[in-house]
Amino acid sequence: MSDPSHQFRKIRYEVDGAVATITLARPEVANAQDTELIDEVDDAFDRAEADDDVRVVILAADGRHFSSGHDLKALVGDVEPDEWRRLRETPEGKFRHEQVMYFDRCLRIYDFRKPTIAAVQGSCVAAGLMLATMCDLIVAADDAVFSNPVLRMTGAGVELLVEPWELGMRKAKEFLFTGDKIDAQEAWRLGLVNKVVPRDELASATRELADKVALVPPITAEMVKGSINHTFELMGKRQSWQYHFMAHHFTHNTATALEALEARKQRTSMKEVFADRDAGDDPTAKRA
Ligand code: ZN
Repeated sequence: MSDPSHQFRKIRYEVDGAVATITLARPEVANAQDTELIDEVDDAFDRAEADDDVRVVILAADGRHFSSGHDLKALVGDVEPDEWRRLRETPEGKFRHEQVMYFDRCLRIYDFRKPTIAAVQGSCVAAGLMLATMCDLIVAADDAVFSNPVLRMTGAGVELLVEPWELGMRKAKEFLFTGDKIDAQEAWRLGLVNKVVPRDELASATRELADKVALVPPITAEMVKGSINHTFELMGKRQSWQYHFMAHHFTHNTATALEALEARKQRTSMKEVFADRDAGDDPTAKRA
């Protein structure tokens, strides 16, 4: 259980009436998710869980973009001291890190007993998309853009393969193989988001939706959410995610992936890393 006196540094947690809002607050790095931010989001969900007055949780983000994904700089660079970064030097440690911090933490949101709504603007990339899709509903600003361009960087998607469930099989394959972006209107057409609203109405439209959902008695909302999620359990959603997590980790530790990771560490900016990514799959050879 969280310590209520703890002050958040990388998120904000606010309760207004029946609605709690958790806001990612690292706009200077497009809300890249580092260890502290992920811990704080989890802590905030603890608070929302414990507060009987809270009936609905909104997950929002400050700034132009919802989230650029996991903070790769923090993971491979020397940006900040982090116990997990040292652990990630081995396949076992990498597995443990991603199981605890990514897999379990995301499923915790997916399984959260109260309804959740993500409010998404700007870029929603890779683990940003994973995070948003853990919520029950998604409201997108008209400038929202969804992408998961990690396959060219050797990554087998992110830790939870949300795409087939969100986009259907055909589109999921295209989306992942090409790394192409999906804009807000297409996201709505595909059923990835519930509604698209003008950027300056994102907060009010999300709140309006939350207020409506908050009218449902909490036990009823909990039962219906659980029942809908159970429908997807019967289709194998969680087991597919477990399978994918193992496949994801096998792919993390291939010679190809480890060479690419070493090459990435030699680069000084993410811009260079992305240039490598978009040039093809063997940056080490290109540099030679
Ligand atoms: Zn991973």
